[in-house]
Amino acid sequence: MDAQHLSQRLKQVAEFVPENARMADIGSDHAYLPASLALKGKISFAVAGEVVKGPYENMVSEIHNNGLQDTIIPRFGNGLDAIEPADKIDTVVIAGMGGSLIADILERGKDRLQGVSRLVLQPNVGEYRLRTWLMHNRYQIMAERLVEEDDHIYEIIVAEPSIVPFSYSDFELTFGPLLLEKKGPVFENKWKDYISRQERVLDQMASAKQPPLDRINDMKARIQLVKETLD
Ligand code: SAM
Repeated sequence: MDAQHLSQRLKQVAEFVPENARMADIGSDHAYLPASLALKGKISFAVAGEVVKGPYENMVSEIHNNGLQDTIIPRFGNGLDAIEPADKIDTVVIAGMGGSLIADILERGKDRLQGVSRLVLQPNVGEYRLRTWLMHNRYQIMAERLVEEDDHIYEIIVAEPSIVPFSYSDFELTFGPLLLEKKGPVFENKWKDYISRQERVLDQMASAKQPPLDRINDMKARIQLVKETLD
């Protein structure tokens, strides 16, 4: 993969970045995403943020090798600390991390989100926790997409600030309010895979010397909920 050849996952994330956006890509690693968008002339400015030295250096090389120094600024920093008010960022992308880490980054950098009109988030796991953060912080989920690549199914969640409070049910936080409306074959694969993994864990728990009954019952109830949703 490079800026000219994005993975299917990053291509789909890129589709949610608005035309002419001033974007921040937090945890950008090689900066492939902003570099690809800049090469296509789709964004007007980007900050690529990284907290680890190796990936930060990768970003610097990718930006330099593609001659994108005027459009993409690499910044070394933790989460949204990479953004400054003068950047006038309107779109924040955080992709390829766990949903809990994404929620922590958003929580810690809340004050940097003023003026940001769109979050494009791609959690690898932990979507429930991320959706809960969005709901508690008045971000409405505007789009959700599932992407299947290399035997893994990724979720993309696009959220925008809302002036009115609203709530998602436990059911919607689990499956995604918009994914639930569409469902479809990738949705089914994701949750069938979840059931198989959980049933394997249940088998291991049940064969323990002292099976954790409360946990087992919780898991069984969750599996049942998923089965009913698929039906
Ligand atoms: N966003 C790219 C993608 O989706 O392909 C790269 C994903 S990579 C798996 C995650 C990157 O996030 C790593 O390079 C890691 O160093 C960076 N990262 C993790 N926590 C971070 C934080 N708090 N602030 C900035 N970057 C972070």
